[in-house]
Amino acid sequence: MPPPVKGTLLLHEDTASLEKAAQIIKSGGLVAFPTETVYGLGAAATSAAGVARIYKAKGRPADNPLIVHLSYSDQLKDVACDIPETAFKLARRFWPGPLSLVLPRAEKIPALVSAGLPSVAVRMPAHKTALEFIRLSGVPIAAPSANRSGRPSPTTYRHVLDDLTGRIDAVIKSTPCPVGVESTVLDLTGEKPLILRPGGVSREELETELGFSVDVAAATARKGEPPLSPGMKYRHYSPQAKLILISGPAPARLPLIKVLAAHYRSLGLKVGYLNTALEGSLRYGVAPEQLAAGLYDSMRRMDRQGVDIILAEEVDAAGIGLAVMNRLKKAAARILRVYPGQV
Ligand code: AMP
Ligand code: MG
Repeated sequence: MPPPVKGTLLLHEDTASLEKAAQIIKSGGLVAFPTETVYGLGAAATSAAGVARIYKAKGRPADNPLIVHLSYSDQLKDVACDIPETAFKLARRFWPGPLSLVLPRAEKIPALVSAGLPSVAVRMPAHKTALEFIRLSGVPIAAPSANRSGRPSPTTYRHVLDDLTGRIDAVIKSTPCPVGVESTVLDLTGEKPLILRPGGVSREELETELGFSVDVAAATARKGEPPLSPGMKYRHYSPQAKLILISGPAPARLPLIKVLAAHYRSLGLKVGYLNTALEGSLRYGVAPEQLAAGLYDSMRRMDRQGVDIILAEEVDAAGIGLAVMNRLKKAAARILRVYPGQV
């Protein structure tokens, strides 16, 4: 039995600390660790009891599967079976990196890791500390994002502490996660590869490597059908504030934003701006990569400041912009489309 969680231990990135983190994993405990995408909440992927604690600590619905993290490519054989050549090809090109491959699940991995699905999502993170921590643990690490279920994913160790202090054994303190949005989830169990969730590796990069076009699954399943990627049905990545996403031609967006801001202020509500050409807006005019890197931190910051309404403009859905738009849409309470000359 793992030791009961009292406080949450803050660990550093030196070898002695990472050995301590690995020890916690070996005894069935939970450690939040940095990756290049977002912080992960890890347990031994081979321990059903450890994995069960992840769901409990996060308050995660039981039908939302986890991603298994490796420290070297050969470990893939312990996690998945009947691995197609495409998986090896993509792993050679994109690992370590933000690409999770969905493959048939190996017997060693408890069904709970995949929320009962016959498949499993697996990746190797491009983060020195994560790789060393997984290597020292001696097992693949199952890890979803290290946030309370429903909150924006954590990209700093502080975000993790804000959500999970006292609910997990330890967190490894590192610099902010550089990519800032989760990994791309690519399903390789069907006839053609299918993007279940856009993320850190872009659709264009995948298509270049594969030599053919790759579809992106609809975020919500068709009526009566189970969702392909169970996590996508939840409205997560959400700040407490109500986020309104404004789409349509750029020149037409700003007048609408001004009207909305004045309206909400007249109701006594506090308005915040994200990626919007107005004074005080967070992340305006930055490269899409920078917008992605600061997206969740911006949402959490506005929550801390007591913002009631976040007005955000859409971004071009190319490259990492596809993942940013996916997260903005999921976070949005409303999506308003504006037409030229409307306001
Ligand atoms: P998180 O790491 O918190 O971003 O959550 C992992 C996400 O990966 C889940 O919400 C699912 O959408 C997706 N995922 C994980 N395993 C599978 C799987 N076996 N099949 C389809 N999607 C998966
Ligand atoms: Mg998550």
